[in-house]
Formats: sequence, C-alpha cells, structure tokens
Amino acid sequence: MKEFLEWHNDIRGEKTVEALKKNHFKACYCKERKEAIEKILNEVPARSVIGVGGSWTVSELGVLKELEARGHTILNHGKPGLSPEEKMEIRRKQLTSDVFITGTNAVTMDGQLVNVDGTGNRVAAMIFGPGRVIVVAGVNKVVKNVEEGLGRIRQTAAPINNRRLGTANPCTLTGECMDCMGPGRICNATVILNKKPTMTDIHVFLVGEEMGF
Ligand code: SF4
Repeated sequence: MKEFLEWHNDIRGEKTVEALKKNHFKACYCKERKEAIEKILNEVPARSVIGVGGSWTVSELGVLKELEARGHTILNHGKPGLSPEEKMEIRRKQLTSDVFITGTNAVTMDGQLVNVDGTGNRVAAMIFGPGRVIVVAGVNKVVKNVEEGLGRIRQTAAPINNRRLGTANPCTLTGECMDCMGPGRICNATVILNKKPTMTDIHVFLVGEEMGF
C-alpha cells in the first residue's frame, strides 16, 4: 500500500514542481522531510537573519532548531512568552529579514500558491521585503486549482488552525467555515501568487509527506 501512496505523492509532487517552475518560482520535490531540511539549510547564507511566518508545517519540519544551532537569529512571533508589543515588533522585522521561511495553505497543480491570512504579515512577507523566501509544503497541500485551494482552506486549514489557536470562531464548533463576522476572524486577506512576484526570490520545497493542515 505504501508504495502506491508514494507513487501517487511523487507523481503529483513532481508535476506541481514543474508547474511552479513555469510560473518562475524556484521549486523542488523532496521525497522526505530529511531531504527538505538538508536542501533548505543549503539555501540559507551564514549569519543571515531568519523570519518565520506562523506555520505548523515549519515547526513540524524541525528546521528552526537546526538554524538556531547554527547561530542564526530567528524572528519568530510564535515563540512562547512574548507580549503583544514584542510580537508586533517581530512581525515588522520579519518583513526585512534576510530569509523568510513559511508554509502555504495550498499549492495548485498549475503552479500557484494560495493563502488566507488574518493579520497579513505572512502573505506580505511572501510578496516583497525579505531577501529570500522559502516556502515549505507537504503533498497534502497540493490541489487541482485555485478554487479547490480556497475550498481546502475553508473546509480544512482554517477550522483546524482556529481550533489550534483556541479562537471562539464558529468553525471551531462546526469544523467548516461559517464566514463569521467577529473581530477574532482569522480569514481576512486572500492572496494568490499566480506567478513569482518580480523582485522576490521564492523557492518552494514540496515534500512527499503529510505536513501541517
Ligand atoms: S471566516 Fe470565520 S468561520 Fe470561516 S474559517 Fe475563518 S475564522 Fe472560521
């Protein structure tokens, strides 16, 4: 069974990488997360300051621990114990970090990145600011097109993220988007990178494993 799942992951992953390249992103397919960590570490110049977008995939990957051990300054507003003011300051600094590492809510098989943010710092940094952007995604994030990507966010990613963040939004009870109107809504900015933004170096690492939501 495992070999058939791997075959399916590989074929979808490789097709998606080719489509991303056509849209001018750098992209590579890594069969396993270990391979992705090695390749990402090679992309990070010595002494560079690393910004981190709120991403369960990035935390799960374990690459931040490796970067910390190498002595990089990590700008992570998700670190426990920070005050709201400190978090805001870190979010601002992430926009001019040397390398910004983030996940993505969906990657389409025609090579687009689909994201919905609450604050917008993550999608802003993906478009312009950092010297280099590294996007990591498991094959579970691969979808046919933008419409399917937005559906995936409403049905899966956003409700699970709400539950993880402990919000009081209605999707934490229903398990699907209810298009809420409250101040705690986390779906405020929908950003689709159809092609690589002109002045930003974006490298997508697609991993042949389930990662994140
Ligand atoms: S719009 Fe509201 S209900 Fe829908 S997923 Fe986002 S936070 Fe949940």
